[in-house]
Amino acid sequence: MRPNAPCPCSSGDKYKRCCGPLHRGAPAPSAERLMRSRFAAYALGLVDYVMDTQHPTGAIWRPDRAAWAADLSRFCTETDFVRLRVLETGEQGGDATVTFEAQLRQRGRMAPFVERSAFRLLDGRWMYLEAL
Ligand SMILES: [Zn+2]
Repeated sequence: MRPNAPCPCSSGDKYKRCCGPLHRGAPAPSAERLMRSRFAAYALGLVDYVMDTQHPTGAIWRPDRAAWAADLSRFCTETDFVRLRVLETGEQGGDATVTFEAQLRQRGRMAPFVERSAFRLLDGRWMYLEAL
């Protein structure tokens, strides 16, 4: 990913000023930023980032990391992550929700969906918990 290219999370900002630093280890300042950085990570095939930002108590966390990585890689290869739009966010204590609309394309067909996601702090860092 070129640092000056537009960030894949659709923020309109350059990658180096948006999700780039998060992908290199900087903590997300909010659940929304974490969500955006995870969308960008899917778009870039950064499967370790996707797994590392998933809360271990969430419904879809998997202990079999190698198999999980393989499934994520396949999903990333088969999918174009076209556009992201955040619709609503809420935060209370160490919990947050983000509702977003994602435009994906698989096998040439658009596959848009809306999800309301739950996020939870773990050791001071926002993590994706699960879809609500
Ligand atoms: Zn971004």
